[in-house]
Amino acid sequence: MSSDSVAVVSNEPIRLGVVGTGYVGLTTGACFAHLGHHVVCGDVDERKVRLLNDGHIPIVEDGLEAIVNDARAAGRLEFVLGAESAAADADIVFLCVPTPQGDDGSADLSYIEQAAAQIAPVVKPGAVVVNKSTVPVGSTIAVERVLQRSDVRVVSNPEFLREGTAVHDFLHPDRVVIGSADRGAAERVAELYASIDTPILITDPASAETIKYAANGFLAMKVSFVNAVAAMCEAVGADVAAVVEGIGSDQRIGGQFLRPGPGWGGSCFPKDSRALVKIAEDHGYNFAMMRGVIDVNDEQLERMVAKISAAVGRAGDDLAGVTVGALGLTFKAGTDDLRESPALFIIAELRRLGATVRAYDPTTVGELTPHQKAVLAGIELVDDPLEVADGADVLALFTEWPDFAKIDLGRLVARLPRPVTVVDTRNLLDPALVREAGLGYDGVGRR
Ligand code: NAD
Repeated sequence: MSSDSVAVVSNEPIRLGVVGTGYVGLTTGACFAHLGHHVVCGDVDERKVRLLNDGHIPIVEDGLEAIVNDARAAGRLEFVLGAESAAADADIVFLCVPTPQGDDGSADLSYIEQAAAQIAPVVKPGAVVVNKSTVPVGSTIAVERVLQRSDVRVVSNPEFLREGTAVHDFLHPDRVVIGSADRGAAERVAELYASIDTPILITDPASAETIKYAANGFLAMKVSFVNAVAAMCEAVGADVAAVVEGIGSDQRIGGQFLRPGPGWGGSCFPKDSRALVKIAEDHGYNFAMMRGVIDVNDEQLERMVAKISAAVGRAGDDLAGVTVGALGLTFKAGTDDLRESPALFIIAELRRLGATVRAYDPTTVGELTPHQKAVLAGIELVDDPLEVADGADVLALFTEWPDFAKIDLGRLVARLPRPVTVVDTRNLLDPALVREAGLGYDGVGRR
């Protein structure tokens, strides 16, 4: 089937089940309930379900709490334990479970297969099961195989939301992609988005699955490209901001996603870029360009470690006795997600070289979740951004939280043992102001 845009007219509420209430599942469930559908969200994590039923949102995501509360008050959104309870009464079931990186770089489909096996006995005849998780080509068929239900259709509907703006992105998408071998099933899923003004692209499952990986691969490529350009700017004495303005104003290139930084991370790009390479390899194609994109990113992370080492005059690999004050831990601003955060990679490397790291992030103040405790072990966490300056030999800004741009440099300097360099991996601070405060400044590709 070739791709095709459809005009969706129906606005009937539909009963939905959502399996997995993480960043994607909770946003999907809450947004569909907000659009008027009846949604039951299920998760295997008892703590999460309890929190949600007590009115707490387990993640940091702008606008999510409000639509969850409204939808619950309207009786359109429920949280239950387990995939089965979410799927039992649903006309359409969304699988929003993790697809982490497997040992060989491929996407690990075990959560998807497990969820499919759990819902198989309970899903209603005639229901549609939707892969919203990011899954490799062939996963629609893989889920059909696990379900063993000839009366149930499986459809691919990849999600493109960004953490930090997830609710906005879900409700105002650039497009909705639906992949199915069954036109009727695809149109039933398309109906769910009827009240959203966006192009809906219906295509075959392999194309829908490929679109998601290709989109993430392309975005990762843009960031790696601009980071490589930033490295070049440093070498030739150019300024990356001017270069980005110059190239981004060409409409064929576009200025979005051309922000230099410490390297990309997060829950999607690292695993999806590697999965893309692996999917291509499994089908006989060497996706050399994507390998290059990943290599440039690995180099970028290492370059940030080198910048911090250079800032304390340690060009080699020994950082014993050095204290690094770190601003930001999450992989980007607006989320509490620490998965594959560039900050954590760089900090791990600094600690491996002997440094002590004292860090502040607005999402790690107060009681930590078990996951936070595990991934932040060994980092000294403080409750105030100024506290990272205490005893610091160098300051490093890792996450572009807007408040860091407004940090009181005078008070920061007052807490430092002596003037140090700020390594601003996000180009967030004004170099002139930092220097005026008596500190050194090093950004990414900035002259
Ligand atoms: P997540 O880890 O935040 O959430 C997954 C949830 O699924 C967890 O709460 C987990 O307890 C639950 N779960 C696992 N197995 C289950 C089962 N059998 N039954 C019920 N619940 C189960 O993951 P996420 O970030 O929401 O990502 C989910 C999928 O969406 C992944 O494939 C990811 O690549 C994709 N995706 C993520 C984003 C993003 O920005 N996070 C964006 C687009 C697509």
